[in-house]
Amino acid sequence: MKLSLSNGIFSKLRLNGNFTAVKQLGFQNIEFNMKSIKKEHDKDVYREQKALATSGLNCLTLHSAVLHVKDPIEVHQAVYYGKISLECARALRTSLMTVHSNVSKKLSRDVRERCLREVFGEIKPFAKSLGIKLSLENLSYLSTGFGKNVEQLEEVLGIIDPKGEMGITFDLCHALEAKEMDNLLEAYGKRVCNVHMANKAHKPITQETPELKRFLTKLHDCGYEGPITLELDHKTSMEEIAKSKAFFEKLLVAF
Ligand SMILES: [Zn+2]
Repeated sequence: MKLSLSNGIFSKLRLNGNFTAVKQLGFQNIEFNMKSIKKEHDKDVYREQKALATSGLNCLTLHSAVLHVKDPIEVHQAVYYGKISLECARALRTSLMTVHSNVSKKLSRDVRERCLREVFGEIKPFAKSLGIKLSLENLSYLSTGFGKNVEQLEEVLGIIDPKGEMGITFDLCHALEAKEMDNLLEAYGKRVCNVHMANKAHKPITQETPELKRFLTKLHDCGYEGPITLELDHKTSMEEIAKSKAFFEKLLVAF
């Protein structure tokens, strides 16, 4: 498994400062979170590409900009966010993009289905043409989006991914908050291709717990070798991030 840091934690910094902070901590791999970009302008992807090349960091995954559509009128906006994120993923040479369902949990089932079909009907073929795999993230019960447990994710995947081509980004924080860790692991252990690693409320994990051990053992048994992406609350101090990094560097030797 490969340790990585979501640069969303430094989203308040300008891009060069953001990458510098990641490097100061000694990380080599990042998940580029589109939140790090103030406003999505098409040609900005060249700026991102240049900043990453200058930093020497390796972009393992990209977290898409997302909009949890509350009304079908917003579909075009969610499609735009998805496509510009894919352009950015291509520019940063990563072949895996984490997405949310992009639909609000407040929609009725019918409207939800329509919005899912429309959004992913555009994003999926575009991703395919760029050779980028999409990976659906389990959401927190606090999220405005739909997709926090197996039942909801099955509904979403049944509509947008009937052939089972998409991966799963397993967010441990969200799974713990929703008390769904074991159910999600059971259903999707073999499809996981990215992990968002944090305790509840995106607090850093700095010591071993029975849950963490169970989680990593199950993933290991499924043959998982992908990123362990620390995705932490932006209030986390540099010291706490460094502590979590050191903890995982040691722990992951066994996985
Ligand atoms: Zn996450």
